[in-house]
Amino acid sequence: MCRHLAYLGAPIALSALLFDAPHALVKQSWAPNDMRGGGTINADGFGAAWFPAQDGPPVRYRSAMPMWSDAALPGLAGVTLSGAVLAAVRSATVGMPVVETAAAPFQEGRWLFSHNGVVRGWPDSVAKLAGRLPTTDLLTLDAPTDSALLWALIRDRLRAGDEPAEALRAVVTEVDTAAPGSRLNLLLTDGDRIAATTLGHALSVKKNATSVLVSSEPLDDDPAWQAVPDRSLLIATPTDVTLGGL
Ligand code: GLN
Repeated sequence: MCRHLAYLGAPIALSALLFDAPHALVKQSWAPNDMRGGGTINADGFGAAWFPAQDGPPVRYRSAMPMWSDAALPGLAGVTLSGAVLAAVRSATVGMPVVETAAAPFQEGRWLFSHNGVVRGWPDSVAKLAGRLPTTDLLTLDAPTDSALLWALIRDRLRAGDEPAEALRAVVTEVDTAAPGSRLNLLLTDGDRIAATTLGHALSVKKNATSVLVSSEPLDDDPAWQAVPDRSLLIATPTDVTLGGL
């Protein structure tokens, strides 16, 4: 399954998260430590989105190629500073297309979203839930994948005014009921806070004085990393981390 991370805090170079740390996201793409039986490597695309220093929505870069094969990315990431980042590497679930638009982050305005996992029984198990969405949303999914549908379901709730925690909890509960055994590690940010769930996959969080980093796998051996238990809902800002049950 995929690996994903989100960072909020003092501006850092994207390369710190993607390339420089001992277990940076690029390393997690070819040598992940904790896939829990969900695939072996994450070579089916990647994406990163970051909030620019000046005001404005995040800038996104996605690709259907393995992250390690993008020769321009390390240089670009080295000179791109941001205080709010979401990035992911993808291992496509069998039967799902390997295309740029199936790679996270999914985006609307300031919202950025990623899914690590799988919806069991796709697509029949969730056809009814999908049927509640406006037809236009279904016709304009980023890709015909479980993750793109999860994003459409969450986006629908955010548009209706749900808080991020409510939106994630509601969609995880609905999908877990309709498609038991699904793995639903979700990650959402608007640049001010991070909301994340664990259901079936790994997640860790590291908080220091000025920043917070949430990641499928720790990026280094800093003892500040804490494993997030399964079936958790995490809300984080640069100054505070709250962990509760789903
Ligand atoms: N099932 C999703 C996809 O194929 C997410 C995969 C993952 O977590 N590896 O895109």
